[in-house]
Amino acid sequence: MTAVSTPSRIDPPRRILMGPGPSEIPSQILAALAAPTVGHLDPYFLKIMDEMQTMLRSVFMTHNQLTLAVSGTGSAGMETCVVNLIEPGDKMLVCVNGVFGGRMADVAGRVGAEVTTIERPFGEVFSPEEIEAAIKKSRPEVVGIVHAETSTGAWQPIEEISKIVHAHGALLLVDCVTSLGGVPVLIDDWEIDAAYSGTQKCLSCPPGLSPVTFSPRAIDVIDRRKTKVSSWYLDMNLVKNYWGSDRTYHHTAPINMNYALHEALRLALVEGLPARHDRHLRNHLALKAGVKAMGLDYSVKEPHQLPMLNSVTIPAGVDDAAVRKQLLNQFGIEIGGGLGPLKGKTWRIGLMGEASSERNVLLFLAALERCLLDQNFKVSPGAGVAAANGQYRG
Ligand SMILES: *Cc1c(COP(=O)(O)O)cnc(C)c1O
Repeated sequence: MTAVSTPSRIDPPRRILMGPGPSEIPSQILAALAAPTVGHLDPYFLKIMDEMQTMLRSVFMTHNQLTLAVSGTGSAGMETCVVNLIEPGDKMLVCVNGVFGGRMADVAGRVGAEVTTIERPFGEVFSPEEIEAAIKKSRPEVVGIVHAETSTGAWQPIEEISKIVHAHGALLLVDCVTSLGGVPVLIDDWEIDAAYSGTQKCLSCPPGLSPVTFSPRAIDVIDRRKTKVSSWYLDMNLVKNYWGSDRTYHHTAPINMNYALHEALRLALVEGLPARHDRHLRNHLALKAGVKAMGLDYSVKEPHQLPMLNSVTIPAGVDDAAVRKQLLNQFGIEIGGGLGPLKGKTWRIGLMGEASSERNVLLFLAALERCLLDQNFKVSPGAGVAAANGQYRG
């Protein structure tokens, strides 16, 4: 007889999640996940869905009727927006300055769009002028752009671009996966036509759902489609009949994930969006003061640094992987490494949702000092923590 090894019980380590997501999860949200499962047509669950739509509209700052949570992570929200807005042969312009812009272009191509991309180096943002020039050239039906490029830490201004996109009769699709809950996302004021987000970034919920919202103008386009949406699962015409008054069964909603998002949205609204945005900014400024006092710098230029994703240039002679490993093993802190051309060149330090706290900033700076000293990088003792405290105390 061969011995069968017994699978281990789930007993994960307690991490301090300061990477590009998932972020720390408040205990109330974990408790919501463990609440009793009911049926997807149970009156209790239908009430939760209605409340969730109302809260999603508040967080997205929109009156859009078609606002709901897609069953799937942020990438499913990306596919949902693209697959519903695009018919084969439609032209789509995608702005690529990081991994997620690149992913959007890939998705659009798979759905049959005639894709044009414009590119900026990783860490930079697009100007309205260059987008206008690209629109004039390719005449797209849809323009896609990423608000908060988690792969680089760059914060893309949207408002001016939206005016240009609409002046040329196109729809604007915005990736708000990392921005929602951390910085203002004004769907109606900025006239965004379609947007998607995720649960595990600044909403501090486990990964698994993707909030999406479509403007009346986008719904018009969907209603006038000549071809069926090529994904059955993500077809808004079908999904909206379950979220709307018909309650027609489409797929079984992930009940407990919806509980968790409901709780995450409730907590965000109890805190208040302006207060939440201020908290993200305050902790970002303190982290930045600390990092700079230690002799390091950000890889994205002001004023385009994201508060929730701090991209820091790794100093010469310091071993990227060794530092991240030490942070994790010795201090339980997870941060992200660089992606694409930034691999080995930057650290991505997340201050997302619950993880955006004074405790995390001070703890991280102290731990980073230890790691840098172990790398024989000269740091003046305590300089990072002192600068962050100075920033907090004003
Ligand atoms: C994380 C992220 C995604 C993808 O979301 P998943 O939940 O990993 O599928 C898309 N866009 C941006 C900007 C992200 O940060």
